Amino acid sequence: MVKENPILGIIGGGQLGSMLATAAKKLNIKTIVLSDDTEAPAKNFCDELIISDYNKVKNIEEFANKVDIVTFEFENIPFKILEYIGKLKPILPKPTVNKIVQNRFTEKKFIQNTARAFNELEIKTVDYGLIKEKSDILKNEGLLPGILKTCTLGYDGKGQFIINNTEEVDKLEIDFDKEYILEKKIILKKEISIIVTRFSNNECLIFDPFENYHVNQILNRSVIPADITKDIFIKAQQQAKLIAEKLDYIGTMCVEYFIDENNNLFVNEIAPRVHNSGHLTINAYNVSQFENHIRAVCNLEIIKLKKIHNAEMINIIGEDIKDYRNKSFSKNEFFFDYLKTEIKKKRKMGHLTTIKL
Ligand code: ADP
Ligand code: MG
Repeated sequence: MVKENPILGIIGGGQLGSMLATAAKKLNIKTIVLSDDTEAPAKNFCDELIISDYNKVKNIEEFANKVDIVTFEFENIPFKILEYIGKLKPILPKPTVNKIVQNRFTEKKFIQNTARAFNELEIKTVDYGLIKEKSDILKNEGLLPGILKTCTLGYDGKGQFIINNTEEVDKLEIDFDKEYILEKKIILKKEISIIVTRFSNNECLIFDPFENYHVNQILNRSVIPADITKDIFIKAQQQAKLIAEKLDYIGTMCVEYFIDENNNLFVNEIAPRVHNSGHLTINAYNVSQFENHIRAVCNLEIIKLKKIHNAEMINIIGEDIKDYRNKSFSKNEFFFDYLKTEIKKKRKMGHLTTIKL
C-alpha cells in the first residue's frame, strides 16, 4: 500500500520530469529525480537530483532506497534497469509496458494483436515491414514511398529516413547494424493524440483529442478542440482506453494517431508517459496530465476531468527561446521556460500555451 505522502522517484530530468515534479509539489509530494545529465532542467523543479548513468547499480540502489514509488519521464530506460528497480520499489507504469513500446516492431505487433482481439474498435496501423538488412527494403518495395524508422531509441523524427524509391537507399547512409521498420508513407489529413490516465482501480480519465501539427517531424503546435468528426473523436478515445487496459497501464499515457484523406484512423505510436501534445492541459483543464499521472501512480483521489478553456500550445524550439525570454505576455498566455542551459537546434526549449477566453 502506498503511503499518504510518498516520496516519488522520477527517472529522467528533462522538461517532462520537471513538469511532473511541479505537479507533485502542488500535491505535497516530494520528488527525487534520477538523471544522467548534469544540467538536467528538473534540478530547478524537484526536491533532489541524483546524477548518474542509468546502468550504475550502486547509484540506482541509492535512488530506489530514498523513494517510495518510482515512475519515469521517458520510455527508453533500459528494460533491465527498470526491472531491477522494480524489485526494490513499486514502479509505475510497470516495466513490461516499456518492453513492448520501446521497440517500434513489438509495439506495432501489440497494436495489431489488440486490433484482432477487438475487431469492432477498428484499430489500424499503417502497413509496415521489419527491416534487418538492406535487401529487406527491396523485398518491401510496395511500402515505398515510405519512412524507415529505427526500432529503438528514436524520437522527434530522429533515426528516420524518408525513402521515395529503391534507388535512394544507397544515398542515405543507413546504418544496417540497427533494425528498422519501414512504414508506408501516408498522406496525412490530420494528426491527433489522446492522453489517457488509468488508475489502479481500472478507472480511466481521458482528455479530449489534441490536434497536432508537426514541422520536420517535430511537434510544433497542439490545439483543442480538434477539428474532427464525432465518430473519430469517440473511436480515438475508445481505442486509447482499450490500449491502456491491454497494457494494464497505471499512470498517464498517450496514443498518437494519423487521419488520412478518407478519414481512416491509424494508431501511429504509444508513448508510455506524459506527452508534449498534452502540455496545454496545465492551463486548459481542472487537472493536468501531469497531476493525473501523479494521482494515478501515488494512488491519490481521482478527480473528474473538466475542460475549462479551449487552448493552443506552441513549442519553442532552439534559438527562438531567446525572444520569448524577453517578451511580455497577456493574461491568457502562459510561457514555460524549461531552463535548459544549452540552446541546441531542434531542441525543445519551452512552450507557450494560449487559452481562448
Ligand atoms: P517520433 O517517435 O519521432 O515521434 P513518429 O513515428 O511519431 O516518430 O513520426 C514523427 C512524425 O513523422 C509523425 O508525427 C508524422 O508527422 C510523420 N510520420 C511518421 N510516420 C509517418 C507515416 N507512415 N506516414 C506519414 N507521415 C508519417
Ligand atoms: Mg511521434
